[in-house]
Amino acid sequence: MLSRVAKRAFSSTVANPYKVTVLGAGGGIGQPLSLLLKLNHKVTDLRLYDLKGAKGVATDLSHIPTNSVVKGFTPEEPDGLSNALKGTDMVLIPAGVPRKPGMTRDDLFAINASIVRDLAAAAAESAPNAAILVISNPVNSTVPIVAQVLKNKGVYNPKKLFGVTTLDSIRAARFISEVENTDPTQERVNVIGGHSGITIIPLISQTNHKLMSDDKRHELIHRIQFGGDEVVKAKNGAGSATLSMAHAGAKFANAVLSGFKGEKDVIEPSFVDSPLFKSEGIEFFASPVTLGPDGIEKIHPIGELSSEEEEMLQKCKETLKKNIEKGVSFVASK
Ligand code: NAD
Repeated sequence: MLSRVAKRAFSSTVANPYKVTVLGAGGGIGQPLSLLLKLNHKVTDLRLYDLKGAKGVATDLSHIPTNSVVKGFTPEEPDGLSNALKGTDMVLIPAGVPRKPGMTRDDLFAINASIVRDLAAAAAESAPNAAILVISNPVNSTVPIVAQVLKNKGVYNPKKLFGVTTLDSIRAARFISEVENTDPTQERVNVIGGHSGITIIPLISQTNHKLMSDDKRHELIHRIQFGGDEVVKAKNGAGSATLSMAHAGAKFANAVLSGFKGEKDVIEPSFVDSPLFKSEGIEFFASPVTLGPDGIEKIHPIGELSSEEEEMLQKCKETLKKNIEKGVSFVASK
């Protein structure tokens, strides 16, 4: 017999039966991300797909007593990918190769572009209404790739396509707290632009720490932009951020589901199809967005910038434009 409290918890879970699919679930990010999704009470149906390992991860997670069913899918079984996607509400894509020391995210394009293109095509066929959260790098180009594939298939919904940039804002919160000796859980830094090097623009002037010395601020901004390199170097050839990224991905996924549920004031930054600089030919840009029942409800303006941030924004736009065009023309050329 269920206690009254347990019954209430169970029925509130069942009232929000979100189906979530992870493509690349056997990888360094995919495994801990799938664990965190298994622990999320908004998820009742979790499907894991990978070229290898998804069944093992799914069976392992299926022993955790939360109210979701977990199933693994492989490319070897008939319709493995389409069954992983059919009717799902949200697709997370961490499939692809990570960086090795000395590589930029852009260096991954040659391999990851076609992986993401093919997975996007499968999502367009089997889950045309799902939100798609792209983790695979280079995000500045892989998000435009997904958009282009969905457009070609006639199912593009700009309100439901997201480049996951959450890791930049959680790093910014952590790093600023180390410099200023504050509580990292209370820090919030708006990070705008894109998701690589100089396209990552943390808006320190919009925090409570605008009076930081120039030296300290320059060092902090550089660390936020290139923080991923610290992990790549420390892992020494074994990949890039996986655990902090899994946390970031699960945080953003939860925000999207909270929006679906109709929770109020759910705001997270993301790299999205954005009107902010479209007149300058920049179709995608990261800024805080409000999430709602249909996906993106509002794309927030970037607010007032310092002259230093304005300068960073100009440089970001030049790189971003090229990164976006590279993604779009990759799909067009095939
Ligand atoms: P990983 O190599 O550990 O895992 C990738 C997984 O993808 C592997 O299990 C592989 O089998 C699978 N895969 C490859 N091709 C596939 C396909 N066609 N279909 C299904 N699965 C496929 O790599 P990782 O460390 O988990 O990183 C994954 C991606 O995430 C990389 O591109 C990395 O650069 C990126 N990343 C993004 C962020 C971000 O902030 N958005 C942060 C860190 C890493």
